Amino acid sequence: MKQLASSNSISWDTQLIKRHDLAGPRYTSYPTALQFDSSLSSINLLQQAKSTLQINQPLSLYFHIPFCAHVCYYCACNKVITAQRQRAQPYLDSLYQEMQYMAGHYSAGREVRQLHIGGGTPTFLSDSQIAQLMEKARQLFNLVDDQHGDFSIEIDPRECSADSLRNLRAIGFNRISIGIQDLHPQVQQAVNRVQDTGQIVQLIKQAKAEGFKSINVDLIYGLPHQSVESFSDTLAQVIEMSVDRLSVFNYAHMPDRFRPQRHIRDQDLPSPAQKLAIQQQSIIQLTEAGYVYIGMDHFAKPDDELSLAQASGQLQRNFQGYTTHADCDLVAMGVSAISKIGDLYYQNAHDLSIYTDLIEKQQQAICRGVTLTRDDKIRRDLIKELICHCYLDIDKFAAQQQLDFSQYFASELAQLEPLAKDGLLAVDHHSIQLTASGRLLVRRVCMIFDRYLPRQEQQKFSRII
Ligand code: SF4
Repeated sequence: MKQLASSNSISWDTQLIKRHDLAGPRYTSYPTALQFDSSLSSINLLQQAKSTLQINQPLSLYFHIPFCAHVCYYCACNKVITAQRQRAQPYLDSLYQEMQYMAGHYSAGREVRQLHIGGGTPTFLSDSQIAQLMEKARQLFNLVDDQHGDFSIEIDPRECSADSLRNLRAIGFNRISIGIQDLHPQVQQAVNRVQDTGQIVQLIKQAKAEGFKSINVDLIYGLPHQSVESFSDTLAQVIEMSVDRLSVFNYAHMPDRFRPQRHIRDQDLPSPAQKLAIQQQSIIQLTEAGYVYIGMDHFAKPDDELSLAQASGQLQRNFQGYTTHADCDLVAMGVSAISKIGDLYYQNAHDLSIYTDLIEKQQQAICRGVTLTRDDKIRRDLIKELICHCYLDIDKFAAQQQLDFSQYFASELAQLEPLAKDGLLAVDHHSIQLTASGRLLVRRVCMIFDRYLPRQEQQKFSRII
């Protein structure tokens, strides 16, 4: 067992990981999207959402831009690959109709503290289209000033010039997330995402100079031709860039579900043992470089808001991953976007033409959703505590939820026993605490509290590690 940086209280136990590395959800929501019901009418869902909204509840906005100019072969996102830039404007026109409708439904002067544009490739849009989108958001919603809000956008470095980056800052974005994935030419060619390291370095330098308050980069391990050495080299270069946050995702090769992945040859992929070694090396290298392991593939500098929120017990989780803004209701717009309003989740149409048709007819495109039961809310809160803090104060939780914990979760507590014997966690009448080696397997522990999992097809999820 290799002990990693002590401040992060995480250690690596290969045997333990092999025994418990099942397929399971990432729990950006509970219940997961597999439980969304398409028989619920959009009007009913909207009425319920509005009735559950609290008047002083701040909002978080999300806009989905589905277009990409090129396909990355590892991609499992909902996107539309097209070289036709003119397709963006009709889509934006639909999005503006939806924004107008949702602002009328939810805004009422509520503060918007967080805004995120994701995709797809948001920088598929021209500078003036992004500026127009931001302008619409300001007209229709009550965005706080950029000292107090988090306004972020995903950037494809191949699609973002120095002028574009300057414009993004000028129109109010203060956070960026850059898709790097891997810096090695052979890996980049195998996944059809070739990008120049010098340009990325320059982009990050410029972002710091322009005053963006947070820079995140995404990396992926498990891609074709990667080895411990090659990925370690990518990490060393990224550490030099000194970004605030890193997401180091595990590539899940599921070519039956995601067509672009059929371009990736099985024989070029690292073996499961190599993937484990790459992940282990990544955690060692990043924590030794001073990053805090937040959990579930995420790292942040010690003075980053995520690290501070975790240290003070305030960390939250939503569809965008770890966040400090889960008190906000999330109004998500655009094709396939998922909203969370009070005790309700709902999702827009997944298909672009269905989305635009529905907007044309009814100004919103909600297709399915779920209203949380009391049991769902209890389990959601418990899973969130474990995912964010790897710890549950049972006494406090039972008092908040007004339940007898040992009785309510008798079956789950029994299922935790073998995991506790195996060293994943310590459990007694007062707390559940993941061990340093159990932290990497937190999803495995959460799965025990997931009431729906036995009924779901586990192959729909990627493996935990
Ligand atoms: S990874 Fe991003 S840029 Fe690449 S195809 Fe998928 S959504 Fe588009």
